[in-house]
Amino acid sequence: MSNPTHPKCGKSYPGGSTAGHCSGCCETFIGLSSFEAHRRGDHGVDRRCEITDKHWTDARGYWHVGAKLTEEQKAKMWGADQ
Ligand SMILES: [Zn+2]
Ligand SMILES: [Zn+2]
Repeated sequence: MSNPTHPKCGKSYPGGSTAGHCSGCCETFIGLSSFEAHRRGDHGVDRRCEITDKHWTDARGYWHVGAKLTEEQKAKMWGADQ
C-alpha cells in the first residue's frame, strides 16, 4: 500500500475514498464528513477552510470528526505497525 503525495506540500496521505487531503489548507481528513465539516462558507463567496471544535487529530496528524476511534479500531484500520 503506497500513499499518494500532494506535490504542493509534499505530505503523503492515505489513498482511497476514506481519506481526503485538502488542496486549500493541506490538511488530511479521514472520512467525507470530517472533510466537509472543515469547508465553511459558500462557493465563490467566502469559501474557506476552518477546523471546528468537533475535529480532532490522531497520532498521524490526520483530522477526524465525531467520535474518537478506539485503539482497537485504529489497529484494524492501519495495522499494528504504528
Ligand atoms: Zn482545507
Ligand atoms: Zn497538501
